[in-house]
Amino acid sequence: MSRQPLNTIVRKKLTRRELMKAAPIGAALAGTGALVAGSLSNEALASTKGTCRFCLMHCGIIGHTRGARLEKVEGDLSSRTKGFLCEHGFALREMVHSGARLKHPMVRRGDAFHEVSWDDALSEVAKRLETVKAKYGPEALLIQTGWPMVRHPLVNWLHRFARAFGSPNVSTVASLCEASLRMGQALTVGSKYSSDLRRSKTLVIWGSNPGVTAPPFLHVVTKKADGGNLIVIDPVKTGLAREATLWLPVRPGTDGALALGLIRVVLENGWYDRGFMEANTLGLEELRALAATYTPPEVERLTGLPAADVERVARLMAQEGPTGVWAGLGVEHHENGVQTLRAISALEVLIGRFDGTQDPRSILTPPGKRFAEEMLPALYDLGTPEPLPPPVKARALGRDTYPLYEMFNREAQGQLLADAVLRDTPYPIRAVMLLASNALVTSQGAQRLEEAADKLDLLVAIDPFFTFSARKADVVLPATTFAESPDVDDADNVAAQSIVAPQHHAWPDWKVIVELSKKLGLGAYFPWASMHEASKQKHVRWMRDSEQQPRPSPTVEQPKFATLSGRAEFKSQLLERAGLPGLPVWTPPTETPSPEFPLRLVTGPRPRAYINSQFHDVPSVNARMRTAEVILHTTVATPLGITTGAKVKLTSPYGSVTLLAVVTDDVQRECAVMAAGFEDANPNRLISPDKRDPISGFPAFRSGVCRVEKA
Ligand code: SF4
Repeated sequence: MSRQPLNTIVRKKLTRRELMKAAPIGAALAGTGALVAGSLSNEALASTKGTCRFCLMHCGIIGHTRGARLEKVEGDLSSRTKGFLCEHGFALREMVHSGARLKHPMVRRGDAFHEVSWDDALSEVAKRLETVKAKYGPEALLIQTGWPMVRHPLVNWLHRFARAFGSPNVSTVASLCEASLRMGQALTVGSKYSSDLRRSKTLVIWGSNPGVTAPPFLHVVTKKADGGNLIVIDPVKTGLAREATLWLPVRPGTDGALALGLIRVVLENGWYDRGFMEANTLGLEELRALAATYTPPEVERLTGLPAADVERVARLMAQEGPTGVWAGLGVEHHENGVQTLRAISALEVLIGRFDGTQDPRSILTPPGKRFAEEMLPALYDLGTPEPLPPPVKARALGRDTYPLYEMFNREAQGQLLADAVLRDTPYPIRAVMLLASNALVTSQGAQRLEEAADKLDLLVAIDPFFTFSARKADVVLPATTFAESPDVDDADNVAAQSIVAPQHHAWPDWKVIVELSKKLGLGAYFPWASMHEASKQKHVRWMRDSEQQPRPSPTVEQPKFATLSGRAEFKSQLLERAGLPGLPVWTPPTETPSPEFPLRLVTGPRPRAYINSQFHDVPSVNARMRTAEVILHTTVATPLGITTGAKVKLTSPYGSVTLLAVVTDDVQRECAVMAAGFEDANPNRLISPDKRDPISGFPAFRSGVCRVEKA
C-alpha cells in the first residue's frame, strides 16, 4: 500500500457529554473558547515547577497557569540551571496551545484519517499488533522514541511493554546521538566521563556547538577564551569559534587523523607520565607505532590544518592543563566515529586526564564501577511484587551487526529499521510505534524509510503534532507535551506535578502504554495507577533482560579503570573480542570529492531555531528561520554566481534537495553544511542509507559528497 502523507481528516462529532468525559478541563476549555476564557480571567494564577524536556539540558522551568491555560513560563532560579531558559523553553506556552496540536485519536481509512475514540483507536492498534505477532512473531514490533524521551524514565516502561509483548526491539535517539561518544570513552577507560568545564584551563570543543546545543553552559565555555585556552575544532566557524584562541577548520571525517597526530606530538616530546602509563595502560607501544606515521605535515595533508597548529594544540593540551575535551556529533557521525573518539580518549589519558596530574576531580573510575551499571540506573532489582514478563527469545535488531552497541546501550539499533522491513534482515519488522519521534525525517535514509513505511502492516504515531511521520501512519494518537503530564526526574526519580492540564483529548505516553497493554491482555505487567506511582517504587524491576546480556567481568582485583584489563586500554580487548581493530585506527571516509560531486557534505548540525524537527509548528520560532539553508564557502559559491539567499539545488549520489544558500568565509572551503529536521529539504535524502560506523552503527551523516548549482 502506498502510504502518502495525509492531511485529510474526517472529524468525529462529539457530544458535549463525550467532550466533558474525555478531557474534563482541556477539552471543555478548547470547546467553549472565549466564554470560558472570560469566566476564568478572575481565576488565580497557579505556579508549578517542572523540567524542560525539549533537549537534554533539562532546564528547571516554572509554569504559571490560569485554569487549563499556560499563561507564562520562566526559568527556575532554584534549579540546577539557575533560571536559564532558551527561546525553546519560552516557546512552551505556544507549543501547548498551538492550533496545530493533534486533538483526537485518528485511524486511516483509505485516503483520509477518521477521528475515533481512544477506546476504538487502541482496540485497532491491539488487533493489528496481534495479527502481526501471529504472522511474523512478536519481534516484528519495534518501538522508537525521539528527543523528548531522552533520559526519560518512560523508556523503561517501553522496554517492559515490548518485552511483555515478546519483542526485544526498543530504540531511542541513542542510535544516532551521543551514545557512540560514550562507547568510545568506555571502550578506552571503562566508563563515560565529562569534562570539568570550570577547572579546565585549556578547553577543546571538538565537533560540538554548545552555544546551540547546550546554551545553559555557554558562558562557562566562553570564559575560557579570557582566562585560558579555548580551541574549537569544527568545519564551521561557530559563534564559539569566533571567541576561541584557535579555530581548526578540520576536513570532515579526518578528526581521527588529527587525534593521532596530536598523540604523536605528545609521545615524541615525552609530555606524559611514563611510569603511570606503563603501570596503568594497555597497548602504549602499539599506539606509539600507530601514531608514528601521523607527522604534523602528514596531518596537514589529511586534515587541511596547518602543521604548526597541530603542534600548538598538542602543546596547549599537554602543557597548559588541566585540559578538558567536549566532543560532539561532529566527531560521531562518520564511518570512523567510535575509533576517532577512542583516539581522543587515548590522548586524554596520555596528557594526564585520568592520572590526577591534570584534573584532580576526575581521576579514576571507582574500582569495580562498570560502564553498564552507570548507564542503566535502577533497572535491575529483585523482590518487588509486580510480575516480570518472561525473557524474550529473539535478539534485538543490531545485536549481530553492532553487538557492542547493543551491549553498551541495551537497546535495538534503530538505524537498521528500513533493512528489517524491506529485506527482512535479520527478521521482518512489520509494526512500528513512534513516540515523540519523527523518524521518517530524522533517521538515516529518508527515501528507504518512506518505502519501508509503505510496507509496514502497522505504523502508529504517538505525538502532540501531526508530523510527517504521523501523516504516514495508520493510527495517530494525540500525546501530551511534557508540561501536561506528571513528570519523573531522571536523576533521582523525584516525581513532579504536571505544569498544565492535558489539552484537547491528548493522553500522556505512559497512559497510552498502560491502556494498550490492557487491550493486549498484558495489563498485569503495569499494576501502577500512573508512572508517578511506579516511580515511587524505586526498585521496580523494569524489563531489560540482565540475564540475557553478557556483561564484562573484572579480570583483576580492584581495577583502576573499569575495562576488562583494569587498565586504560589504548588497545581495546572488547573490540578485539568483537573482531574489530583494538587500536584507535583512522580510516578515511569512503566517499571523497570527485569532479561530479566536488564538495564534502556535512548534514545534521542543529540550527539555532529548531531542535531537529521540533518547533516547526511554533510561529515565534519559525519567524527566525523558515527555510532550510546550506552554508557554502565564498570560493565555491562566487564562481557559480551564488549569493546569500539564492535558491540552490544540492545533489548527491542519493538525491537532490532545494534550499537557500548562506555564503561565507567562515566554513571549511571544501564543505557544504546543512541542518537536519526539514521535511522538504531533508538532508537524509542526500546521505547514504548504508554507510555507518562499524562499532556503533551511527550513520555517516557528515561524510557525504555533493555538488551545488543555482536552482
Ligand atoms: S536549553 Fe532550552 S530547550 Fe533545552 S532544556 Fe533548556 S530551555 Fe529547554
